[in-house]
Amino acid sequence: MTHPLVNIAKELSSGFEKRAAGWDRSRTYCWQNVSELVHAGIMGMSIPKEYGGQGASFLDVAMVIEEIARACTLTARIVVEGNMGGISAVMGYGSDAQKAFCAPHVLAGDKPAICITEPEAGSAATEMRTTARKKGSRFVLNGTKHWITGGGVSKLHLVFARVLDEAGCEQGVGAFILFADPANGNSPEGFSVVGREHTMGLCGMPEAELQFDNVEIDAKWLLHPPSGLKHGFADLMNAYNSQRVGAAMIAVGVAAGALDHAKRHLLDRKQFGRPLAEFQGLQWMLADMDTQIHAARLLVHEAARSRGPNGSRYPDMTMAARAKLFASEMAIKVVSDALQMFGARGYGDQEPLERMYRDVRMFTIGGGTTQILRTQIAGSILGMKTPQTRDGYTRLSETMRDAAE
Ligand SMILES: Cc1cc2nc3c(=O)[nH]c(=O)nc-3n(C[C@H](O)[C@H](O)[C@H](O)COP(=O)(O)OP(=O)(O)OC[C@H]3O[C@@H](n4cnc5c(N)ncnc54)[C@H](O)[C@@H]3O)c2cc1C
Repeated sequence: MTHPLVNIAKELSSGFEKRAAGWDRSRTYCWQNVSELVHAGIMGMSIPKEYGGQGASFLDVAMVIEEIARACTLTARIVVEGNMGGISAVMGYGSDAQKAFCAPHVLAGDKPAICITEPEAGSAATEMRTTARKKGSRFVLNGTKHWITGGGVSKLHLVFARVLDEAGCEQGVGAFILFADPANGNSPEGFSVVGREHTMGLCGMPEAELQFDNVEIDAKWLLHPPSGLKHGFADLMNAYNSQRVGAAMIAVGVAAGALDHAKRHLLDRKQFGRPLAEFQGLQWMLADMDTQIHAARLLVHEAARSRGPNGSRYPDMTMAARAKLFASEMAIKVVSDALQMFGARGYGDQEPLERMYRDVRMFTIGGGTTQILRTQIAGSILGMKTPQTRDGYTRLSETMRDAAE
């Protein structure tokens, strides 16, 4: 049965669509939309009921995301991060106190920022340099994160860092829940938002650089990965699979929205004395677009329903990678074809296609590039470990090697 919030999302989307160009042009965060999402119960809908959410499944959230992404990519991203990624990691791995602290912020409209990428650690995220060194009952954070979505507007931050003991010996990678509210001048000492990127699309969303200069944080805010810090990064990336499913669903939604616009235009616009819809060359393009969208949607739904091994509460890594890879590449092509059908009009900003085209370009990059996703999928087919090593080879996992010997 379809979750009731899917229909509510559809109703809200007409307002989101009308306002989408405004946030894009003014490069401002869509606070008005956020308050509608909060009022409807969409922010934090995946949070378990005991923490004030609705306990909605990732599939329910995905279906809501598609409706919103048809109208406004920016708002759809907020729904992803208000239900998947950082907040789902806290809900899966966090202590009661951590969950009880984070849930009300998200339910009130905060979109947690997930802070992994660094200037020298992009695809090779495990090469991160940010450290958290133990000091009594606290940790001291030092480092720089960049391209952080929501940097400057988000209050909850999930900061990935190498965890060091008091002697400076590395224990593994952990994530810290850091509350900072720079917009209201309420951030811990040493935390700063130092710059905002000028992006080609999704212009209402700040992508910022964050600096941590001896930021002290109580040890109780360390999110303990279930298999311990040594395997912490793998656990945290499992939680991130939900975010990948959300991103893939945005791509499907934007493509579906573009198809709706294309259909309308083909029926309205006449050339050579006939509606464009009567030209077979365009009909076949439309059919291919529709088929690709359907295929992507099925992959995303399959990934949203799936669970990784060992009782994981998060989507399977390979299914999530497959869904994001296919949906993100599909959406760029579909939106481009829809724009083509509009001719010059599609290239101008009186139609939403040029904005959708700029927005959707991001999804083959952010949250794991299509190259890295392909490497992951190939790794799972071949039983080889990712990431690639410095010398360029993908390592055979120990299990595969044992089986082969
Ligand atoms: C709009 C946007 C929002 C983002 N939001 C966040 C966020 O909220 N939090 C966060 O932590 N990060 C965020 N990121 C960062 C994003 O996750 C990284 O950009 C991404 O992981 C790629 O890293 P990079 O940009 O440093 O590219 P690089 O790693 O430098 O890669 C450059 C190119 O080389 C390719 N490449 C690299 N290694 C290999 C390999 N082994 N095999 C084949 N090809 C390879 C890549 O695919 C890419 O095409 C965001 C990025 C964007 C664009």
